[in-house]
Amino acid sequence: MQRDLLIREMQAILGPEGVISEREQLRSYECDGLMNYRVIPELVVLPETAEHVQSVVKLCYNEGIPFVARGSGTGLSGGALPVESGVLIVLSRLRRILEVDIPNQRVIVEPGVINIWVSQEVADEGYYYAPDPASQIVSSIGGNLAENSGGVHCLKYGFTTNHVMGAEIVLPDGSMVNVGGGMAPDAPGYELLGAFVGSEGTLGIATKITLRIVRKPEAVRTLLAAFKDTEEAGGAVSGIIGGGIVPAAIEMMDSLCIEAVETAVHPGFPQAGAILIVELDGPAAEVEDQFQHTIRVCEENDASEVRIAEDDEERALFWKGRKAAFAAMGRIANDYYVQDSVVPRTELGAVLKRISELGSEYGMRVANVFHAGDGNLHPLVLYDNDVPGEAEKAEALAGDIVFTCLEHGGSLTGEHGIGEDKKKYMPKMFTTEDLDTMQLLRCAFDPHQICNPGKIFPTPRLCGERPGPFRMHPVQKAGLAENF
Ligand SMILES: Cc1cc2nc3c(=O)[nH]c(=O)nc-3n(C[C@H](O)[C@H](O)[C@H](O)COP(=O)(O)OP(=O)(O)OC[C@H]3O[C@@H](n4cnc5c(N)ncnc54)[C@H](O)[C@@H]3O)c2cc1C
Repeated sequence: MQRDLLIREMQAILGPEGVISEREQLRSYECDGLMNYRVIPELVVLPETAEHVQSVVKLCYNEGIPFVARGSGTGLSGGALPVESGVLIVLSRLRRILEVDIPNQRVIVEPGVINIWVSQEVADEGYYYAPDPASQIVSSIGGNLAENSGGVHCLKYGFTTNHVMGAEIVLPDGSMVNVGGGMAPDAPGYELLGAFVGSEGTLGIATKITLRIVRKPEAVRTLLAAFKDTEEAGGAVSGIIGGGIVPAAIEMMDSLCIEAVETAVHPGFPQAGAILIVELDGPAAEVEDQFQHTIRVCEENDASEVRIAEDDEERALFWKGRKAAFAAMGRIANDYYVQDSVVPRTELGAVLKRISELGSEYGMRVANVFHAGDGNLHPLVLYDNDVPGEAEKAEALAGDIVFTCLEHGGSLTGEHGIGEDKKKYMPKMFTTEDLDTMQLLRCAFDPHQICNPGKIFPTPRLCGERPGPFRMHPVQKAGLAENF
């Protein structure tokens, strides 16, 4: 279809203000939070309703035009990276909270609703929405759903997938379906909602999402403990969790990260090789008992200081420091690359040691801030894009960190997704058969591969191609297919 005609057809659906076609304006959408990949899309559209999304997708489907969904564009794996000859469907104008059902602990939202708005909406009723990515003041529920986002409190409360009850989805052919139970905890039939959550925008576009909200805990206690190094801090993490306590959050920052955060937001953190922020929540009596135990474990692991948040203000200050960690890197380096991998908690010490060695080998600084409780690392590789070759070196170092994590029984990503960034590493973690099976699912939703094409899989093949000899029926293999 000619570009001019496509623009006219999109304008007929969305009105002139819902279509962006000027090259300079399109540039604003050329990347997500991972800025080393950039593609200017053919067109950006801004639907306001689910019906708009459906009509836009139908038009794309009928014309064979690839499309990519975008929420707030904070993704760190290039998931919302546009396709050059494709349409970028920005969901930020679908931002209504459609229904709040306190007795059933459900909130129904449009996908462009910002994460923190959900908690703000139900706060007066004593509830909140538990998944809390550090980007929660800007990232959208649609993006959170597509990435199965985590956050500091996901150790105890689970990831996005544990808090999404149902979704209305526009499939790549423009049909609209509902997956998940909505009000019922366990829907009959295949668990399609589970497949959709974390599918990184490759199976369709969510236009309505039912979320589970949880009651605010009776008590919350937060402490900050300073240690000589990450190894000592790691010992405290093992001691706390090994003692049977599941903290609501347990986060670690190393000295370089503390330095950046101090420079950026001045939370008054102690100078230390590593700090832990530990938060416990639940019934008051239980929390108090476990909090005292946690303090003891930190002291037994030679904490040089244990600082207890005396009120909500001080608690907020601890978290302000933690949540500003990525952005704070801008104070100590021109550019940084966020790596996101997971290792078993018991491997944290060895992996952190290897990351430090890799930093020395490459001659680059690596800051660490991470969800220590579930072993989800976020090494931040610092570099200067203006120095020729540094960006490539940073990416190579980040790749070596991924391989280290895999060698220690870890995973390619903890919460930021595969997207464009890590698809090349997928064969390091999965066999051809594993990848073929995932591809079968993708093809069931999107046989023409127009929905966020080229993401997640290293070597996309056309749907309908036999994914591998293991799929052949044994009788067919024996040449007896005609008997059927
Ligand atoms: C400073 C900072 C801190 C961060 N902290 C965390 C963190 O603690 N935990 C964490 O998990 N992540 C974190 N992230 C990463 C990012 O914020 C999350 O991945 C977030 O969920 C992305 O939401 P978004 O609205 O920006 O989505 P986008 O970046 O716009 O899109 C992300 C993916 O979702 C797809 N998508 C978007 N909307 C829809 C929809 N309605 N239907 C189907 N697919 C859709 C896109 O195609 C893309 O593949 C952080 C990012 C930054 C910049």
